[in-house]
Amino acid sequence: MSLLVVGSVAFDGIESPYGKEDRIIGGAATYFSLAASHFTQVNLVCVVGDDFTTKDERIFHGRRIDTTGLERAAGKCFFWACRYSENLNDRVTLATELNVFADFNPKIPAQYVDAKYVFLANIAPNLQSGVLRQVKKPKIVALDTMNYWIERTLDDLRETLKHVDILIINDSETRQLSNEHNLLRAAKHIFKMGPSALVIKRGEYGALLVDKNGVFCVPAVPLEEPRDPTGAGDAFAGGFMGYLAGCGQKSDAALRRAMVYGTVMGSFTVEEFGPRRLVRLKTKEIHARARHILKLSQFKL
Ligand code: AMP
Repeated sequence: MSLLVVGSVAFDGIESPYGKEDRIIGGAATYFSLAASHFTQVNLVCVVGDDFTTKDERIFHGRRIDTTGLERAAGKCFFWACRYSENLNDRVTLATELNVFADFNPKIPAQYVDAKYVFLANIAPNLQSGVLRQVKKPKIVALDTMNYWIERTLDDLRETLKHVDILIINDSETRQLSNEHNLLRAAKHIFKMGPSALVIKRGEYGALLVDKNGVFCVPAVPLEEPRDPTGAGDAFAGGFMGYLAGCGQKSDAALRRAMVYGTVMGSFTVEEFGPRRLVRLKTKEIHARARHILKLSQFKL
């Protein structure tokens, strides 16, 4: 089953205690697509500026990523810059330059409108709604967002969430959106907004799935040398949605496995700067790490 993703393809500036990159390809849809394409066919809808060369576009080639929906506009690509704290747990955003993103109005190519799996990556909520109006009858719609949109466009976000099945966000965004500190209470609050499942990404503390079946937790993979957490959340979403679309099921067992594959993809992403580790990742490494997670959390009573 193919998977439609709409979101940012960008250039990022990243500073972490392990190095600095002034301009590296990034964007939520980039990380998502690279991760999800290990599991299923990905149809990418995004906008880039004229500074995004055909050489840059090669990052998507040779994979199961269709770029028919990659729109080129006059101007510069979305640019985002951040600096990470010593322990990589916190970051400050140094720049968010919307550029061609400011006038982005995603047009879903005719061959994608039957998409059964849709991921609305982190973009303005009114654009996310616009995408859903174009897609005919999706089976699962998942959405990511961030503080930037929660602070600026909360009403639009609430409207969009009415049509979303799975919300995939981090712990601080969960608290900000629900006004609840406790994550389980926050989940109950968010279910009233529309989604029937909430996936909470908690960085080095792992990830939680909360839905009608209760709570499922996956630990993060302990890494000796994490370097750059950028895009880990998007790669998580790519592993999660890619797995669900690839297996075509939405049983509790499938959702649990999707959580593990999300965790696997996030863990590889942080090993190197930008999407570098994802670019050279092999599918067999993914399955080996999923088995590692199984071992990490298995015990007998
Ligand atoms: P993450 O580390 O998973 O939160 O995602 C980081 C990626 O999201 C970077 O590659 C950025 O280019 C992209 N990004 C950051 N802020 C925004 C925003 N406001 N809208 C869309 N994409 C963003």
